[in-house]
Amino acid sequence: MTHAPNLSTADYQRIDAAHHLHPFTDFKALNAERSRVMTRGDGVWIWDTDGNRYLDGMAGLWCTQIGHGRREIADAVHRQMLELEFYNTFFKTTHPRAAELAEVLAELTPEGLNHVFFTGSGSEANDTVFRMVRRYWTLAGKPDKQIIIGRRYGYHGSTVAAAAMGGMAGMHEQAGMVPGVHHITPPYWFDFGGDMSPDEFGIWAARELERAIDELGEGNVAAFIAEPIQGAGGVLIPPETYWPEIRRICAEREILLVVDEVICGFGRTGNWFGSDTYGLKPDLMPIAKGLSSGYLPIGGVMVSDRVCEYLIGDGGEFFHGFTYSGHPASCAAALANLRIMREEKVVERAASEAAPYLQAKWLAFADHPLVGEARMKGLVGALELVPRKPSRRDRFAPVGDVGTIARDISFNNGLVMRAVRDALIISPPLVITREEIDELARRVEKTLDDTHAELKKRGWLV
Ligand SMILES: *Cc1c(COP(=O)(O)O)cnc(C)c1O
Repeated sequence: MTHAPNLSTADYQRIDAAHHLHPFTDFKALNAERSRVMTRGDGVWIWDTDGNRYLDGMAGLWCTQIGHGRREIADAVHRQMLELEFYNTFFKTTHPRAAELAEVLAELTPEGLNHVFFTGSGSEANDTVFRMVRRYWTLAGKPDKQIIIGRRYGYHGSTVAAAAMGGMAGMHEQAGMVPGVHHITPPYWFDFGGDMSPDEFGIWAARELERAIDELGEGNVAAFIAEPIQGAGGVLIPPETYWPEIRRICAEREILLVVDEVICGFGRTGNWFGSDTYGLKPDLMPIAKGLSSGYLPIGGVMVSDRVCEYLIGDGGEFFHGFTYSGHPASCAAALANLRIMREEKVVERAASEAAPYLQAKWLAFADHPLVGEARMKGLVGALELVPRKPSRRDRFAPVGDVGTIARDISFNNGLVMRAVRDALIISPPLVITREEIDELARRVEKTLDDTHAELKKRGWLV
């Protein structure tokens, strides 16, 4: 059963432009151009109202691990909706799906994480982190430890504390900053590595944390928050030396480590969690996106035994929570998603089959005249577009225009990629097959060629 569109594409575009304010959008520019109207999804494919088919290289928005259109999830949600569509988890109540999901998450997540605080999204998870970190240090008798250290180009969401901990300058400029947040240089060798080798730079970037702790005073620093691989910041895959050095610093200093797994969690980097890939022991671990493969909104914070020791102590009530914390239908969707991922060995198969196959093709794009660097880990990758090779220093100016042009060309070639600055990003569903990877690679190649031709025509290449 499909919903046949009732209106024409132009009608949907018209009412959308008249009434709908889109996330992270220049409203005026979008209204001049009009939205694509998506109607259907199946596996790695999505369709628009005009019947055009696109390979969804972004897995929805970094989340559709098992692909679009899995009936089992719709059925599980349908059953839950008929049984108990909603009840809250405040006031000494719970319900079967929330309890079951909490247990499954304790099992799947790294050792030492045995409790979850449910939220409706990744942003809410990170605002929860902000409050939980401060609550922890107050309960631990060190209320001066207030400062949270994040990283430039970090992304932790769009709510107030999450945006502050993130390192997106444009967001800070528009909304103002929350006091008590400090940002350090990210492990982004391509932009910030200078003359250092990636390994040297990885150590240098990790020691940014040590330098910041010394400068701010260890007695004032509460936590360091980081994504294992920075996603929205441009798929910044750290040099191999980075995380071991951060681990050393966290072991020596009295701060909490918050590992934001909203993108890396649930198989993206080749293991269940980015923390498994990089050997991290998070004190707090925000999750969302892949938790339900995006079928319904749900997020959470995994809370370590270390933090629970105080949180579940004699400190009394934690004044925090959301109406939809542990929403029954969302929990049912997440449980069905995780059941599929385990039964079909989605993570293990992506790591052993799809990832190496896609990586070989993706890394070969480094030979294209437009590509300054190709990087990929698990099933998440980026291509840095540059005006001249082999230099890492030359960039298009202003930054971002070429990325947008390439992204639009990609869309027209039937492949959804995302642009961050002048990098093209992919993060496809984990269930992508070899044939679909061949198709994806053909479309990437055509997009690079078409973009190169377009830039040449405009005289933008050096
Ligand atoms: C998307 C994202 C968030 C925010 O999640 P929402 O569900 O959009 O609120 C937080 N952290 C990371 C790493 C993300 O990619």
